[in-house]
Amino acid sequence: MEKGSLLLLNDIRIRNTLAILRALLNHNGYSRVELAKEVGCDNTAVTRAIQDLMSRGLVKSAGKTEAAHGRPREKLVLSDQGALVLGISLRPNCIMATLSDLQGMLRNQSEHSFGAEVGWREYLAVLDAVVSRMLALRDTRLAGTGISTFGPMVDREGVIMSNTANFPTQDGFDLKRHFMDKFKLQPLFADMMICKMHYELHTHPDFAQGNVLLVHLGQGIGLAMSCKGEIVMSRNQHGGELGHNICEPDGLPCTCGRRGCLETRCSVKAVLNCARSEYGRADMSLRELGERYENGEAKAIEVVDNALRYMAIALANQANNCFPDSLILTGDLLFLGRTFQRKLEESVRSLLFAGVNRAMKMIFQEGSGNDAAGASLMVVDKLLSSPDAFNQACPRLD
Ligand SMILES: [Zn+2]
Repeated sequence: MEKGSLLLLNDIRIRNTLAILRALLNHNGYSRVELAKEVGCDNTAVTRAIQDLMSRGLVKSAGKTEAAHGRPREKLVLSDQGALVLGISLRPNCIMATLSDLQGMLRNQSEHSFGAEVGWREYLAVLDAVVSRMLALRDTRLAGTGISTFGPMVDREGVIMSNTANFPTQDGFDLKRHFMDKFKLQPLFADMMICKMHYELHTHPDFAQGNVLLVHLGQGIGLAMSCKGEIVMSRNQHGGELGHNICEPDGLPCTCGRRGCLETRCSVKAVLNCARSEYGRADMSLRELGERYENGEAKAIEVVDNALRYMAIALANQANNCFPDSLILTGDLLFLGRTFQRKLEESVRSLLFAGVNRAMKMIFQEGSGNDAAGASLMVVDKLLSSPDAFNQACPRLD
C-alpha cells in the first residue's frame, strides 16, 4: 500500500477509535452492535476500535448481557483505571484542583482559599503544594492538565502574566514554563469563562443545539459565547470582558486604568463597597444584603437596584447583539437572592427586542465552583478531537 493511503487508513482508524470512545463516554455500557449503530460504522471497524481502546487500557468488557431475543451481547465499559485528568482553577482568592476521569466524574478535590490579600510568592507556593498533592493521589495515568486562569494571563507565546490587577508585581511570569520545570506537565490554559462554558456544554447537552451567552457576576464580570456547541474564543484563549464595557463616560476609575467600566458599578466588590459604606459596616456580606433586600429595607433596595440597573442594560445590550437561545448567569452576585434574580430578569426582558425575548431562556446558576471541572473537560474535548494529542496522552500499554 502506498504511504499516503496508509496514513489515510490510520487516520480513519484513529478517528473511529475516538468516535467509539466518545460514544462510550456519553453512554457507558454499549454492546458492539449498539456502538456500530450509534457511530455509523460497520462491525469490523467497531471491533478494531474496541481492540485499540482495550490495548490503551481505556475500555474493558463487563461480561455478557442477558438477551431476551438472540445471542447475549458483550457489554463494553470504560475502565476505572483508564485515565485521569487534572483540572486547576486559579482565582485571585482561591486555588482549586480536581482529579476526574474522562467522563468528568470527580475522584479527588483540593481547595485553598486566601485571606483578603495574598502575595504572589505565597500564591505560587500554595499552587505547587496543591498540584503536588493531587499528583500524589492519582492512581493511574494522567491524560492531561487543564488550567482555568483569571485575567489576561494567556499569551500567544506562553502563559505570561501581564497587567494582572491582583498581582501587579508579577508581570512577565511564565506559568506554562513553571509547570514544565516543576512538574513536567504541559497544561492547556484558558480563561475562566471558557472553562465554565466547557462545563455548561458538558452538563447540559441541549445547550449545544443553540447559541449560549454565559455571564459570570463575580469580582469581575466575564462573558463567554457558544454557537451550536462551538465556543467562541479570542486569539489568546479568552472569552470576553463584559465587565470592562464602559457604561458611563468619565465615570468611576477602574482597575484597568480607564473610567466608567461596568465593574465599577456592579461587580461583587462594587456592590459590597456601596452597601458597607451605606450601612457603615465593613463586615456586610452579599447574603445579608440580599436578606435585607428581600425584606424591603430602603437602604438595601437603593444599593442593589442601582447595581441591577447597570447590569440589566449591559445584559440586554449583549443579548440584543447576538440573539442567544440561553442566557446563563453564574457568580457570587446571585447570592443576593431570588428577589434580586427575578427583578434582574424582569429588567433585562423589558429591554430586549421582542424576538430575542420570546426565544431566550434565562438561567440562574448559583455556586461558581465549576471552572476546575470545566478545565478538565476542555482537556477531554481536545483529546477527542485531536488524534495526535490522544496518541500522546493515552498510548497503547503493550
Ligand atoms: Zn475597566
